[in-house]
Amino acid sequence: MRLVILPGDGIGPEISAATAVVLELLNRKLALSLTLETHEIGLGPLKRTGTTFPLTILDACQSADGVILGPISHAEYPPRSEGGINISAELRIQLDLYANIRPSRSRQGLPHWGRTPMDLVIVRENTEGFYSDRNMFWGVGEFMPTADMALSIRKGTALASQRIARTAFELARARRRKVTAVHKANVVKVSEGLFLREVRKIAASYSDVSYDEQLVDSMAALLVRDAEKFDVIVTTNMFGDILSDEAAELSGSLGLGESINAGDLHCMAQAQHGSAPDIAGQDKANPSSLILSAARLLDWLSRKYGKPSLATAARTIESAIDEVLKDPARRTFDLGGSLGTRAFTSAICEQMECYTAE
Ligand code: ATP
Repeated sequence: MRLVILPGDGIGPEISAATAVVLELLNRKLALSLTLETHEIGLGPLKRTGTTFPLTILDACQSADGVILGPISHAEYPPRSEGGINISAELRIQLDLYANIRPSRSRQGLPHWGRTPMDLVIVRENTEGFYSDRNMFWGVGEFMPTADMALSIRKGTALASQRIARTAFELARARRRKVTAVHKANVVKVSEGLFLREVRKIAASYSDVSYDEQLVDSMAALLVRDAEKFDVIVTTNMFGDILSDEAAELSGSLGLGESINAGDLHCMAQAQHGSAPDIAGQDKANPSSLILSAARLLDWLSRKYGKPSLATAARTIESAIDEVLKDPARRTFDLGGSLGTRAFTSAICEQMECYTAE
Protein backbone atom coordinates (compact mmCIF):
# COMPACT_ATOMS: atom_id res chain seq x y z
CA MET A 1 0.00 0.00 0.00
CA ARG A 2 1.50 3.31 -1.11
CA LEU A 3 1.23 6.43 1.08
CA VAL A 4 2.42 9.80 -0.20
CA ILE A 5 3.80 12.23 2.41
CA LEU A 6 3.88 15.95 1.52
CA PRO A 7 5.75 17.68 4.38
CA GLY A 8 4.73 21.28 3.54
CA ASP A 9 5.95 24.53 5.11
CA GLY A 10 6.67 25.90 8.61
CA ILE A 11 6.48 23.07 11.16
CA GLY A 12 5.32 20.71 8.38
CA PRO A 13 8.69 18.99 7.78
CA GLU A 14 9.17 18.38 11.53
CA ILE A 15 5.74 16.87 12.21
CA SER A 16 5.80 14.91 8.93
CA ALA A 17 9.17 13.39 9.85
CA ALA A 18 7.71 12.40 13.23
CA THR A 19 4.70 10.82 11.50
CA ALA A 20 6.96 8.86 9.16
CA VAL A 21 8.99 7.52 12.11
CA VAL A 22 5.81 6.28 13.82
CA LEU A 23 4.46 4.69 10.63
CA GLU A 24 7.78 3.00 9.79
CA LEU A 25 7.90 1.46 13.27
CA LEU A 26 4.39 0.02 12.96
CA ASN A 27 5.11 -1.07 9.42
CA ARG A 28 7.93 -3.27 10.75
CA LYS A 29 6.17 -4.47 13.89
CA LEU A 30 2.78 -5.25 12.35
CA ALA A 31 3.91 -6.13 8.79
CA LEU A 32 1.57 -3.56 7.26
CA SER A 33 3.28 -3.55 3.81
CA LEU A 34 3.24 0.24 3.66
CA THR A 35 5.52 2.10 1.27
CA LEU A 36 6.09 5.73 2.24
CA GLU A 37 6.96 8.11 -0.56
CA THR A 38 7.88 11.73 0.28
CA HIS A 39 7.56 14.66 -2.14
CA GLU A 40 8.53 18.25 -1.43
CA ILE A 41 5.79 20.85 -1.89
CA GLY A 42 5.29 24.51 -0.97
CA LEU A 43 7.80 27.33 -0.70
CA GLY A 44 10.84 25.10 -1.47
CA PRO A 45 9.69 23.96 -4.97
CA LEU A 46 8.24 27.44 -5.63
CA LYS A 47 11.78 28.88 -5.51
CA ARG A 48 13.31 26.11 -7.62
CA THR A 49 10.56 25.25 -10.11
CA GLY A 50 8.13 28.20 -10.04
CA THR A 51 5.21 26.30 -8.50
CA THR A 52 4.26 25.21 -4.99
CA PHE A 53 2.67 22.04 -6.36
CA PRO A 54 4.27 20.42 -9.44
CA LEU A 55 1.78 18.44 -11.56
CA THR A 56 3.75 15.19 -11.18
CA ILE A 57 3.03 15.30 -7.44
CA LEU A 58 -0.71 15.63 -8.04
CA ASP A 59 -0.43 12.49 -10.23
CA ALA A 60 1.45 10.70 -7.43
CA CYS A 61 -1.36 11.60 -4.99
CA GLN A 62 -4.08 10.48 -7.39
CA SER A 63 -2.51 7.05 -7.82
CA ALA A 64 -1.58 6.57 -4.13
CA ASP A 65 -3.70 4.69 -1.57
CA GLY A 66 -3.54 7.63 0.80
CA VAL A 67 -1.97 11.06 1.26
CA ILE A 68 -0.48 12.69 4.36
CA LEU A 69 -0.36 16.46 3.91
CA GLY A 70 1.69 18.64 6.27
CA PRO A 71 0.56 22.22 6.92
CA ILE A 72 1.29 24.82 4.26
CA SER A 73 2.03 28.57 4.54
CA HIS A 74 -0.58 29.46 1.96
CA ALA A 75 -0.76 33.09 3.14
CA GLU A 76 2.84 33.54 1.95
CA TYR A 77 2.22 32.09 -1.53
CA PRO A 78 2.02 34.41 -4.55
CA PRO A 79 -1.13 34.38 -6.72
CA ARG A 80 -1.95 31.15 -8.54
CA SER A 81 -0.89 32.74 -11.84
CA GLU A 82 2.62 33.05 -10.33
CA GLY A 83 2.77 29.47 -9.10
CA GLY A 84 1.14 29.87 -5.67
CA ILE A 85 -1.24 26.91 -5.72
CA ASN A 86 -3.09 26.33 -2.44
CA ILE A 87 -2.16 22.64 -2.17
CA SER A 88 -4.74 21.83 0.47
CA ALA A 89 -7.62 23.25 -1.60
CA GLU A 90 -6.23 21.72 -4.80
CA LEU A 91 -6.12 18.21 -3.36
CA ARG A 92 -9.55 18.52 -1.76
CA ILE A 93 -11.02 19.50 -5.13
CA GLN A 94 -8.98 17.23 -7.43
CA LEU A 95 -9.49 14.12 -5.28
CA ASP A 96 -13.07 15.13 -4.42
CA LEU A 97 -12.37 14.95 -0.69
CA TYR A 98 -15.73 16.39 0.27
CA ALA A 99 -15.78 15.51 3.97
CA ASN A 100 -13.34 16.99 6.45
CA ILE A 101 -13.72 14.87 9.57
CA ARG A 102 -12.29 16.56 12.66
CA PRO A 103 -12.57 14.76 16.00
CA SER A 104 -11.80 16.44 19.33
CA ARG A 105 -11.79 14.65 22.65
CA SER A 106 -10.47 15.41 26.09
CA ARG A 107 -8.12 12.83 27.55
CA GLN A 108 -7.83 11.23 30.95
CA GLY A 109 -5.08 12.94 32.96
CA LEU A 110 -4.68 15.84 30.51
CA PRO A 111 -6.22 19.25 31.37
CA HIS A 112 -8.96 20.45 29.03
CA TRP A 113 -10.05 24.09 28.78
CA GLY A 114 -13.78 23.72 28.21
CA ARG A 115 -16.03 23.43 31.29
CA THR A 116 -16.92 19.81 30.52
CA PRO A 117 -15.00 16.90 28.99
CA MET A 118 -15.71 16.35 25.29
CA ASP A 119 -15.77 13.59 22.71
CA LEU A 120 -17.17 14.97 19.49
CA VAL A 121 -16.52 15.02 15.75
CA ILE A 122 -16.99 18.03 13.50
CA VAL A 123 -17.96 16.96 9.98
CA ARG A 124 -17.16 19.91 7.75
CA GLU A 125 -18.22 20.31 4.12
CA ASN A 126 -14.99 20.72 2.21
CA THR A 127 -15.66 21.82 -1.35
CA GLU A 128 -17.77 25.00 -1.36
CA GLY A 129 -19.35 27.48 1.12
CA PHE A 130 -17.65 30.79 1.92
CA TYR A 131 -14.39 29.62 0.28
CA SER A 132 -14.65 31.66 -2.88
CA ASP A 133 -11.32 30.40 -4.26
CA ARG A 134 -12.92 27.03 -5.09
CA ASN A 135 -16.41 28.10 -6.05
CA MET A 136 -15.97 28.72 -9.77
CA PHE A 137 -15.29 26.47 -12.75
CA TRP A 138 -13.14 29.22 -14.22
CA GLY A 139 -11.84 32.32 -12.46
CA VAL A 140 -11.97 33.34 -8.82
CA GLY A 141 -15.16 34.03 -6.91
CA GLU A 142 -13.74 37.07 -5.19
CA PHE A 143 -13.18 40.39 -6.91
CA MET A 144 -13.02 44.19 -6.53
CA PRO A 145 -15.36 46.21 -8.74
CA THR A 146 -13.77 49.40 -7.33
CA ALA A 147 -10.65 50.04 -5.24
CA ASP A 148 -12.80 50.34 -2.11
CA MET A 149 -15.29 47.53 -2.60
CA ALA A 150 -14.69 43.78 -2.44
CA LEU A 151 -17.24 41.09 -3.30
CA SER A 152 -17.03 37.39 -2.56
CA ILE A 153 -19.20 34.57 -3.83
CA ARG A 154 -20.44 31.90 -1.48
CA LYS A 155 -21.68 28.65 -3.04
CA GLY A 156 -24.04 26.05 -1.61
CA THR A 157 -25.45 23.07 -3.49
CA ALA A 158 -27.99 20.40 -2.63
CA LEU A 159 -25.61 17.60 -3.64
CA ALA A 160 -22.73 18.75 -1.42
CA SER A 161 -25.12 19.35 1.51
CA GLN A 162 -26.68 15.92 1.14
CA ARG A 163 -23.44 13.99 0.92
CA ILE A 164 -21.88 15.74 3.91
CA ALA A 165 -25.07 15.11 5.91
CA ARG A 166 -25.00 11.43 4.96
CA THR A 167 -21.35 11.20 6.11
CA ALA A 168 -22.34 12.73 9.46
CA PHE A 169 -25.30 10.39 10.02
CA GLU A 170 -23.29 7.29 9.07
CA LEU A 171 -20.56 8.34 11.49
CA ALA A 172 -23.12 8.98 14.24
CA ARG A 173 -24.41 5.42 13.82
CA ALA A 174 -20.98 4.15 14.82
CA ARG A 175 -20.89 6.55 17.81
CA ARG A 176 -23.55 7.94 20.19
CA ARG A 177 -26.23 8.39 17.49
CA LYS A 178 -26.66 12.13 17.66
CA VAL A 179 -26.18 14.75 14.92
CA THR A 180 -26.30 18.54 15.38
CA ALA A 181 -26.43 20.73 12.28
CA VAL A 182 -24.71 24.10 12.75
CA HIS A 183 -25.80 26.98 10.53
CA LYS A 184 -26.65 30.67 10.23
CA ALA A 185 -29.87 30.33 8.27
CA ASN A 186 -31.54 33.04 10.34
CA VAL A 187 -29.40 35.62 8.49
CA VAL A 188 -27.87 33.91 5.43
CA LYS A 189 -31.29 32.68 4.50
CA VAL A 190 -30.83 31.40 0.97
CA SER A 191 -27.58 29.42 0.96
CA GLU A 192 -27.58 28.40 4.65
CA GLY A 193 -31.29 27.70 4.27
CA LEU A 194 -30.59 25.31 1.40
CA PHE A 195 -27.94 23.53 3.49
CA LEU A 196 -30.39 23.06 6.34
CA ARG A 197 -33.19 21.94 4.02
CA GLU A 198 -31.00 19.17 2.60
CA VAL A 199 -29.63 18.06 5.99
CA ARG A 200 -33.22 17.76 7.29
CA LYS A 201 -34.12 15.54 4.32
CA ILE A 202 -31.23 13.19 5.12
CA ALA A 203 -32.09 13.30 8.86
CA ALA A 204 -35.56 12.01 8.05
CA SER A 205 -34.07 8.80 6.67
CA TYR A 206 -32.02 8.13 9.85
CA SER A 207 -34.78 7.66 12.43
CA ASP A 208 -32.31 5.80 14.70
CA VAL A 209 -30.13 8.93 15.05
CA SER A 210 -31.35 11.93 17.06
CA TYR A 211 -31.09 15.27 15.31
CA ASP A 212 -31.04 18.92 16.37
CA GLU A 213 -29.80 22.29 15.13
CA GLN A 214 -27.72 25.17 16.54
CA LEU A 215 -26.82 28.61 15.27
CA VAL A 216 -23.08 28.90 14.76
CA ASP A 217 -22.71 31.75 17.28
CA SER A 218 -24.47 29.75 20.02
CA MET A 219 -22.35 26.76 19.11
CA ALA A 220 -19.14 28.74 19.70
CA ALA A 221 -20.34 29.41 23.27
CA LEU A 222 -21.74 25.92 23.86
CA LEU A 223 -18.41 24.31 22.98
CA VAL A 224 -16.90 26.17 25.92
CA ARG A 225 -19.84 25.67 28.26
CA ASP A 226 -21.26 22.25 27.53
CA ALA A 227 -19.30 20.37 24.85
CA GLU A 228 -20.15 16.97 26.33
CA LYS A 229 -23.70 17.36 24.97
CA PHE A 230 -22.47 16.95 21.37
CA ASP A 231 -21.58 13.87 19.38
CA VAL A 232 -21.41 14.59 15.62
CA ILE A 233 -21.64 18.18 14.38
CA VAL A 234 -22.28 18.75 10.68
CA THR A 235 -21.66 22.16 9.16
CA THR A 236 -20.52 24.17 6.17
CA ASN A 237 -16.90 24.82 5.21
CA MET A 238 -15.87 27.96 7.08
CA PHE A 239 -17.94 27.38 10.23
CA GLY A 240 -16.41 23.90 10.45
CA ASP A 241 -12.92 25.30 10.10
CA ILE A 242 -13.37 27.81 12.89
CA LEU A 243 -15.34 25.62 15.32
CA SER A 244 -12.93 22.70 14.94
CA ASP A 245 -9.91 24.84 15.90
CA GLU A 246 -11.88 26.02 18.92
CA ALA A 247 -12.83 22.45 19.85
CA ALA A 248 -9.26 21.17 19.45
CA GLU A 249 -7.85 23.93 21.66
CA LEU A 250 -10.58 23.34 24.27
CA SER A 251 -9.78 19.63 24.30
CA GLY A 252 -6.20 20.43 25.35
CA SER A 253 -4.33 22.02 22.44
CA LEU A 254 -4.57 22.79 18.75
CA GLY A 255 -1.50 20.55 18.54
CA LEU A 256 -3.83 17.57 19.13
CA GLY A 257 -6.18 18.57 16.28
CA GLU A 258 -6.34 15.62 13.91
CA SER A 259 -8.38 15.31 10.72
CA ILE A 260 -8.95 13.40 7.54
CA ASN A 261 -10.34 14.69 4.27
CA ALA A 262 -12.33 11.85 2.78
CA GLY A 263 -14.22 11.22 -0.42
CA ASP A 264 -15.66 8.06 -1.92
CA LEU A 265 -12.32 7.01 -3.46
CA HIS A 266 -9.52 8.90 -1.73
CA CYS A 267 -8.47 9.94 1.76
CA MET A 268 -5.94 12.49 2.99
CA ALA A 269 -4.64 12.95 6.53
CA GLN A 270 -4.08 16.59 7.50
CA ALA A 271 -3.57 18.36 10.85
CA GLN A 272 -6.25 20.89 11.72
CA HIS A 273 -3.78 23.68 12.41
CA GLY A 274 -1.65 25.78 10.08
CA SER A 275 2.10 25.89 9.55
CA ALA A 276 2.82 27.71 12.86
CA PRO A 277 5.70 29.82 11.50
CA ASP A 278 6.27 31.25 15.01
CA ILE A 279 7.72 27.91 16.21
CA ALA A 280 8.98 26.43 12.92
CA GLY A 281 12.43 24.83 12.91
CA GLN A 282 12.70 24.95 16.73
CA ASP A 283 11.80 21.34 17.58
CA LYS A 284 8.83 22.70 19.54
CA ALA A 285 5.78 21.54 17.56
CA ASN A 286 3.44 18.92 18.90
CA PRO A 287 3.33 16.26 16.14
CA SER A 288 0.25 14.51 17.64
CA SER A 289 -2.09 16.28 15.21
CA LEU A 290 -0.51 14.78 12.11
CA ILE A 291 0.35 11.42 13.68
CA LEU A 292 -3.26 11.00 14.85
CA SER A 293 -4.49 12.12 11.41
CA ALA A 294 -2.34 9.39 9.88
CA ALA A 295 -3.94 6.92 12.33
CA ARG A 296 -7.37 7.97 11.05
CA LEU A 297 -6.17 7.43 7.49
CA LEU A 298 -5.03 3.90 8.42
CA ASP A 299 -8.47 3.29 9.90
CA TRP A 300 -10.16 4.52 6.71
CA LEU A 301 -7.88 2.27 4.61
CA SER A 302 -8.61 -0.67 6.89
CA ARG A 303 -12.33 -0.29 6.16
CA LYS A 304 -11.79 0.30 2.44
CA TYR A 305 -9.55 -2.75 1.90
CA GLY A 306 -10.82 -4.97 4.73
CA LYS A 307 -7.38 -5.09 6.41
CA PRO A 308 -7.79 -5.35 10.21
CA SER A 309 -4.02 -4.91 10.79
CA LEU A 310 -4.35 -1.26 9.69
CA ALA A 311 -7.09 -0.67 12.28
CA THR A 312 -4.87 -2.31 14.90
CA ALA A 313 -2.08 0.08 13.91
CA ALA A 314 -4.45 3.06 14.25
CA ARG A 315 -5.53 1.96 17.74
CA THR A 316 -1.90 1.37 18.76
CA ILE A 317 -1.02 4.95 17.80
CA GLU A 318 -4.02 6.42 19.65
CA SER A 319 -3.40 4.39 22.82
CA ALA A 320 0.32 5.22 22.82
CA ILE A 321 -0.35 8.97 22.51
CA ASP A 322 -3.03 8.85 25.24
CA GLU A 323 -0.65 7.01 27.54
CA VAL A 324 2.30 9.33 26.91
CA LEU A 325 0.13 12.43 27.46
CA LYS A 326 -0.97 11.20 30.91
CA ASP A 327 2.55 11.94 32.16
CA PRO A 328 3.25 15.72 32.55
CA ALA A 329 6.96 14.99 32.05
CA ARG A 330 6.25 13.58 28.59
CA ARG A 331 4.33 16.50 27.08
CA THR A 332 5.23 19.08 24.45
CA PHE A 333 5.43 22.85 25.04
CA ASP A 334 1.87 23.62 23.91
CA LEU A 335 0.64 21.28 26.66
CA GLY A 336 2.84 22.87 29.33
CA GLY A 337 5.56 20.22 28.98
CA SER A 338 9.20 20.47 27.97
CA LEU A 339 9.66 17.72 25.38
CA GLY A 340 10.66 18.74 21.88
CA THR A 341 9.09 17.22 18.76
CA ARG A 342 11.78 14.56 18.41
CA ALA A 343 11.87 13.53 22.08
CA PHE A 344 8.06 13.33 22.19
CA THR A 345 8.07 11.16 19.05
CA SER A 346 10.61 8.84 20.70
CA ALA A 347 8.31 8.60 23.75
CA ILE A 348 5.40 7.55 21.50
CA CYS A 349 7.62 4.98 19.77
CA GLU A 350 8.78 3.54 23.11
CA GLN A 351 5.16 3.24 24.18
CA MET A 352 4.21 1.53 20.91
CA GLU A 353 7.16 -0.88 21.32
CA CYS A 354 5.63 -1.92 24.70
CA TYR A 355 2.24 -2.63 23.10
CA THR A 356 3.58 -4.47 20.08
CA ALA A 357 5.96 -6.56 22.20
CA GLU A 358 3.12 -7.84 24.43
P1 ATP B 1 -0.84 29.65 9.23
O1 ATP B 1 -0.55 31.01 8.67
O2 ATP B 1 -0.12 28.58 8.48
O3 ATP B 1 -2.30 29.36 9.44
P2 ATP B 1 -0.71 30.38 12.04
O4 ATP B 1 0.43 30.42 13.04
O5 ATP B 1 -1.41 31.64 11.72
O6 ATP B 1 -0.18 29.64 10.70
P3 ATP B 1 -1.61 28.00 13.20
O7 ATP B 1 -0.47 27.32 12.56
O8 ATP B 1 -2.91 27.32 13.16
O9 ATP B 1 -1.83 29.40 12.59
O10 ATP B 1 -1.14 28.28 14.70
C1 ATP B 1 -1.92 29.01 15.66
C2 ATP B 1 -1.13 28.97 16.98
O11 ATP B 1 -1.11 27.61 17.47
C3 ATP B 1 0.34 29.39 16.83
O12 ATP B 1 0.75 30.11 17.97
C4 ATP B 1 1.08 28.08 16.75
O13 ATP B 1 2.41 28.14 17.22
C5 ATP B 1 0.24 27.14 17.60
N1 ATP B 1 0.32 25.77 17.05
C6 ATP B 1 -0.24 25.35 15.91
N2 ATP B 1 0.05 24.07 15.68
C7 ATP B 1 0.83 23.66 16.70
C8 ATP B 1 1.48 22.43 17.03
N3 ATP B 1 1.38 21.33 16.26
N4 ATP B 1 2.21 22.38 18.15
C9 ATP B 1 2.33 23.45 18.96
N5 ATP B 1 1.74 24.64 18.71
C10 ATP B 1 1.00 24.76 17.60
